[in-house]
Amino acid sequence: MAEHERTPAPMPLRQVEEFINTRRADGDDFATPAQLAYWLQTKDLIAAGIVITEEQRDRAETVREGLRALIAENNEPPVASPRPDGLDPAARSNLAELARQLPLALDLSAHPPRLTPQSPEPVDNALATLLGLVAEAVAAGTWSRLKACREPSCRWAFYDYSRNRRRTWCSMDLCGNRAKARASHHRKTSSTPAGAN
Ligand SMILES: [Zn+2]
Repeated sequence: MAEHERTPAPMPLRQVEEFINTRRADGDDFATPAQLAYWLQTKDLIAAGIVITEEQRDRAETVREGLRALIAENNEPPVASPRPDGLDPAARSNLAELARQLPLALDLSAHPPRLTPQSPEPVDNALATLLGLVAEAVAAGTWSRLKACREPSCRWAFYDYSRNRRRTWCSMDLCGNRAKARASHHRKTSSTPAGAN
């Protein structure tokens, strides 16, 4: 296994990576509002005892899938098609709409100044905090290395530590080999001459 294959993103971008990776092919760490409350608490994004509504859980999902769509564009080439591929075509615009309701302001009392959430709702503040981390990562130059796995059944978030920034799968052992096996099978069974596709 290549070095850094499973090394998470540097903090604080790791929080965004972990948030996106709460959904996997085999489950969802916040399928219910109570699970979301627990997850946000363990990441110190909300205080203990906060009750989360179904509607707030849905907002969190909109943020998660919107972020997944964004990091899919960081893959090279972007993993936008074909569909269905584990990516909701509307995810990015849904998040763009929701983000307007998640205000951030530049806190000049912090050193260095940083974006801080401004909502009276704790859950919205937690979600806005994650969006603020995206802006920080863009400024730090780390954002473009956070990618969504190219394998349609996966779409796991991973941080590309490779020097040439060309990593496309979350894991060569899992998704990379799966894709290669499929391509090889396709070549063997297809009547299309090699190289025609
Ligand atoms: Zn993968």
